[in-house]
Amino acid sequence: MEETSISEKKQSLLDKIQDVSFRRGIAYPTGEIYGGLSGAFDYGPLGTLMRLKLINFWREYFVKDENHFEVEGSLIIPEKVFEASGHLAKFNDPLVQCKSCKSMFRADKIIEDKLDQNADGLSPEELDKIISKNKLKCPSCEGDFMNAREFNLMLKTEVGSVSGNVAYLRPETAQNIFTSFKRISHSMRAKLPFGVAQVGKVYRNEISPRQFIIRVREFKQMELEVFFAEEQLDDPPRFEELADELLPILTREQQAKGIEEPILISAADAVKKKILPNAAMAYYLVKEKILFEEVGVNPELIRFRHMLPKETPHYSGGNFDLEVKLSIGWTEVVGNAFRQQHDLTSHEKASKTKMGIQHTTGNVIPFVIEPSIGVGRTMYCVLESCYRETDDRDWTWFQFPSTIAPYDVQVCPLMKKDGLEEKALEIFEELKSEGFETIFDSSGKIGKRYARSDEIGTPYCVTIDYDTLQDDTVTIRDRDTMEQIRVPQEELPDAMVLLLTGEYGLKELEDLLKESTE
Ligand code: AMP
Repeated sequence: MEETSISEKKQSLLDKIQDVSFRRGIAYPTGEIYGGLSGAFDYGPLGTLMRLKLINFWREYFVKDENHFEVEGSLIIPEKVFEASGHLAKFNDPLVQCKSCKSMFRADKIIEDKLDQNADGLSPEELDKIISKNKLKCPSCEGDFMNAREFNLMLKTEVGSVSGNVAYLRPETAQNIFTSFKRISHSMRAKLPFGVAQVGKVYRNEISPRQFIIRVREFKQMELEVFFAEEQLDDPPRFEELADELLPILTREQQAKGIEEPILISAADAVKKKILPNAAMAYYLVKEKILFEEVGVNPELIRFRHMLPKETPHYSGGNFDLEVKLSIGWTEVVGNAFRQQHDLTSHEKASKTKMGIQHTTGNVIPFVIEPSIGVGRTMYCVLESCYRETDDRDWTWFQFPSTIAPYDVQVCPLMKKDGLEEKALEIFEELKSEGFETIFDSSGKIGKRYARSDEIGTPYCVTIDYDTLQDDTVTIRDRDTMEQIRVPQEELPDAMVLLLTGEYGLKELEDLLKESTE
């Protein structure tokens, strides 16, 4: 039998995830009945629930837990903002066009795909040299390429009825925060250090959107801009709580040697050994690692890669991408940047608005740490990490943790007749009113319903059968083990809390219930 090529193998898991996502309403192409729009996806009912859970988790852990302030900025932003931020001049990707079929590609991605070599941050001239030296051709028609050129990724628009009032859809959420920095700090009477958080849509006119929700033209980011006085960068609040946590870091030296696996080093040591620029950065990297683990991404597949000098803007004091080892290769999912004073000073200069704020040492322009998490990419990592094909069942399933599973519990009557459906609906309403994300399914055979429930990763199924009508007990089925226990209906909400928080497994819960009735 012919061996499958690596790229076919790589593609297949992504295809499977995409297939189940389309079928089960996680995400699917925008305007699909008209052929869709490249790089645009709608999130369906299940994807929307998952996305909300992810965002809420981030909000609890990155915003409220830190006393940061959350804002919601406009998506349309005037041109002057992007002149000052440098996006107009520099937010570019290198584009190459085929001379014959006129298809356009990202020059660095063509090199990465064909030569397996990182070409991030190279100039068009450097990319042209590599393309011509290796005789790289158009993947669509084998034609030759024209010279590479810079292509600005911002989506431009005009506002109002008079032409010429140029604005852009924001390519990151950060600029709203920087331009309103004085308003935010004054209105909240904020003292350094403090953070401003924002979750929202951003737009990038990607040259070649691809790989389902991984590279798209419209996506959500969960961003934080955390402002520090310079002397606070190595002494951020609560660092000691996380200082001993291990961080998987891929240093520049390792990358130069072609090493892919990260070293494991405690946050405190990474700062001491100057692998990370400061403790403030270390603190947020640990929090990201914890967030990813909590929402179901295998922690062994995560690394923080120190971006190479050619990938790092001149003003940065160090960028560390959180990358996840997906079936398509290591993929950036979070950008962490030590932006120093760059944004506030650029806006101060261009707008002639003073950006300094009062601090114990006088009037200062704060330093910024920016963790920027892509919502769609994180969702994809969760989907891949939790996807299961196992011998114990004929269907594929997701082993989502309850932090991210679209539903906590599915309620099913064994049959539709003899009052079972009515009883099941009563229990369904009860669980919903107790705050559980609950789905009701009464169609088809019970085995099919368990399969459907597993396929969307619902951790527990509650079944109402003839015994329920006699003794007011229901069965709870565990998605992972497929084992079942009987629980009194009145204990069901408490039982669900114990199971969903992971405090008890099914068997432990059964023992607990036995003990309490003895
Ligand atoms: P950046 O501002 O480029 O560092 O991006 C921050 C994060 O946004 C990345 O780590 C990704 O998770 C996400 N992201 C960037 N570009 C895209 C895209 N085209 N499609 C989906 N997510 C993206």
